[in-house]
Amino acid sequence: MSQSELHGQKLATQALDYVQVISPYVIGKPIDEVAREFGLTDILKLASNENPLGASPSARRALQDLTDLHIYPDGGGFALKGAIARAFDWVPAGIILGNGSNDLLELAARAYLAPGRNAVFSAYAFAVYALATQATGARAKIVPALPATHPTMPYGADLTAMAAAIDAQTSVVFLANPNNPTGTWVDAAQLRAFLNAVPPHVLVVLDEAYSEYVDRCWYADGRFPDGLVLAREFPNVLVTRTFSKIYGLAALRVGFAVGAPEVIAMLDRVRQPFNVNSLALKAAEAALGDHEFIERSRRINAAGLEFMVAAFAKRNLAVIPSLANFVTVAVGFPAGLVFDALLKAGVIIRPLGGRVDTGGLSCHIRITIGTAAQNERVLDALDKALAQLRSEAR
Ligand SMILES: *Cc1c(COP(=O)(O)O)cnc(C)c1O
Repeated sequence: MSQSELHGQKLATQALDYVQVISPYVIGKPIDEVAREFGLTDILKLASNENPLGASPSARRALQDLTDLHIYPDGGGFALKGAIARAFDWVPAGIILGNGSNDLLELAARAYLAPGRNAVFSAYAFAVYALATQATGARAKIVPALPATHPTMPYGADLTAMAAAIDAQTSVVFLANPNNPTGTWVDAAQLRAFLNAVPPHVLVVLDEAYSEYVDRCWYADGRFPDGLVLAREFPNVLVTRTFSKIYGLAALRVGFAVGAPEVIAMLDRVRQPFNVNSLALKAAEAALGDHEFIERSRRINAAGLEFMVAAFAKRNLAVIPSLANFVTVAVGFPAGLVFDALLKAGVIIRPLGGRVDTGGLSCHIRITIGTAAQNERVLDALDKALAQLRSEAR
C-alpha cells in the first residue's frame, strides 16, 4: 500500500464511528456505461421511477432563458413557494424547498436526530431514511412490516407496530405513502389512528413522493389520506413532495415540504442558503401549473400499472399491491440474476434485497411503469430472462 493510501485509510478511521458503518446508497449504472459495456444502443431504464413522458412541456419552456446563470438563485424561493402556497392553500412560512425531497429528509434528520435519539420507520421503507438517520448518529428503529402472507397489504407498513415502537428517545417517524420500493400504502383511517397514537412531540415525516399518482377519486372518497389535510390537523406532521416523479424533473433536484411554520423554521436553520438552483426553481413553478401534463401522466401510469399487474397475474408472478408508478414483483430467482439477464437485453430495472432493510425481498424486482411500448418490452425481456434462468436451473 502506498504512503498516500495509508494516510487516506488513517483519515477514514478518523470519521465519526456512525458514519464509518453506513452502507452507502447503491447508485445504478448510468445508461451510457451500460450501452458501452454490452454494445447496446437502445437502453430502456425503468429503474428509478422517472416519468416515461419526460418533463412537463411548460417546465422545458421555462428552462430556455439562461441569461442569469451568473446570479445566485433566490435562496428564499419566493416565487416557487408562492406558487405552492396558492396551489395547496398553505402559508409560505409553512413551506421549505429542497434540493430534491432527499434534501428535506436530511434536513429533518439533522434538525431532530442525534446520538441518543432514534427514528422509527418500517422495514422495506425508502433507503434514504436509514442513511439520513445513521448520518446523525441516531438509531434507526426498523419495525417489521406486515407479513408476506397478509391478505390485503403484504409487506406494507404495520402502523400498530410502528406506534408501539415509539419510545422516549424517538424524535422522528418516517413514513412514505405510497411507499417505495413496495408501492404499498396506508389508508386514511389507519393513518389518522396512527397520528392520534403518536406523541405530539414526535415529528412524523410523511413522504408523499408518489401521492400525485393516486386516483383523485380515492382522495375525494376519503379512501386515501391527503397529507396536507392531516398536516393542518396535526402540527407534528411534515409532508414532503417532489418534482422528480410525476412532474418529470428528477435531473433538476427540487422538492418541497409543508408543515407547521415553527417546524419549517427549524429545518430552515440547517439548510444551505442556496440549496435549490435557479433553473430548478423556474421549472418547478412552471411544472406545478401544468395540469394537463400531470393529468396525462397519471392516466397513462394508471393504465400501465393495470396492464402490468394483469400481465404478472397471467404469468403467476406475485406482485405487491401498488398505487405508485412502479410495481414490485416476485420473480422466483435472486433479483441480481434477473437484473443481470435483463441488463444484457438493454433493460434496467431495480433489484431489491441486499440491504438490511430489504431482507426478505431478495427475489423481488421493482419495475417503473413505462409507456405501453416500454411495458411490452420489459415483459418480453423478462419472459426470456426467466425462461433462460429456468432452463439453467434444471
Ligand atoms: C423518489 C423518491 C423521493 C424523491 O426524491 P427526490 O430527492 O425528490 O428526487 C422521495 N421519497 C421516496 C420514497 C421516493 O421514492
